[in-house]
Amino acid sequence: MIVVMKPHASDEAVKRVTDRAEASGLSVHLSRGEERTIIGLIGDVRIIEPESLQALPEVDRVLRIMEPYKLASRQGQPTGSKVRVGQVIFGGSDFPVIAGPCAVESAELLDEVAKAVKLAGASALRGGAFKPRTSPYSFQGLGEEGLKILARARHQYDLPVVTEVMSPLELEMVAEHADLLQVGARNMQNFSLLKELGGVRRPVMLKRGLSASIDEWLQAAEYLMSSGNSQVILCERGIRTFETYTRNTLDLSAIAVVKQLSHLPVIVDPSHATGRRELIKPLAMAALAVGADGLMVEVHPCPANALADGPQSLLPEDFSHLMDDLRRIAPSLDRTMAHKETKPSCSAP
Ligand code: PEP
Ligand code: MN
Repeated sequence: MIVVMKPHASDEAVKRVTDRAEASGLSVHLSRGEERTIIGLIGDVRIIEPESLQALPEVDRVLRIMEPYKLASRQGQPTGSKVRVGQVIFGGSDFPVIAGPCAVESAELLDEVAKAVKLAGASALRGGAFKPRTSPYSFQGLGEEGLKILARARHQYDLPVVTEVMSPLELEMVAEHADLLQVGARNMQNFSLLKELGGVRRPVMLKRGLSASIDEWLQAAEYLMSSGNSQVILCERGIRTFETYTRNTLDLSAIAVVKQLSHLPVIVDPSHATGRRELIKPLAMAALAVGADGLMVEVHPCPANALADGPQSLLPEDFSHLMDDLRRIAPSLDRTMAHKETKPSCSAP
């Protein structure tokens, strides 16, 4: 059962609901959005009359939700939720694009990419410092040094930073430097990590697992939300199928399905979905058309020498062309995009 509070309900009103539920032996999970608080009640909810909760002050609606994901369900929040990352809003009319190299390789390289993607109108900078590589012999990322490089670029180019956290052990360190914490496909069901992220005051981007069903993906989001973090952005990055021409298969229908099932914003990563840079543009366009709330694209100035994911990285000039193309069609889909910058706005010399 979930209790949807009226917009900007007081803490006192929320406490009245949670006290009543706890007195009936139910456990309570609070999800505080920008506007509304939603209270999930778990346990034998037959004990409590929905009418008794509905009658409490500042309660908007009391719903029995049949899906296993209750706080993530659109039933409880028919209007999509918005997630703020720095000054950027995901889930509204904007169509933000996150861009950057797969891995932070050096300060010089990140600086070059950050400058180029900022000029092209990217809303956030990506770069992995802790990399989940298939082979233990592949580049594993620069770790803390990579986070510091990201933090400098964030300051210099005034771009929020997105980076992956792989383990609860690194969480504090990564959260100190990142504006949006990425949970990678391989960790989508790392439940200890998800529970820890529930207690962090940073938004989380949850990538879909390699072989995860939509239901499992939304239940993973529910782990974050029921542990206290309602600032969740979903990211479709392709799933494993029998098709091997592309690295993964971009499940475009999942975007439309998730938009119906959940109020959470959902973005698309056409780089990992295809593994091929020449397919990024058509699939990015398709993502915009199908109703995604943004994109994440890998960009590298010399993909042939990239330490990770070169074949699926766009050259900076191709990224700029992609942004021009998206900007042209976005208005016809009622989406707005950040303008191209004429010069990088550096806050440091
Ligand atoms: C990445 O974003 O670089 C990454 C490793 O993504 P995924 O978890 O989707 O494979
Ligand atoms: Mn990558």
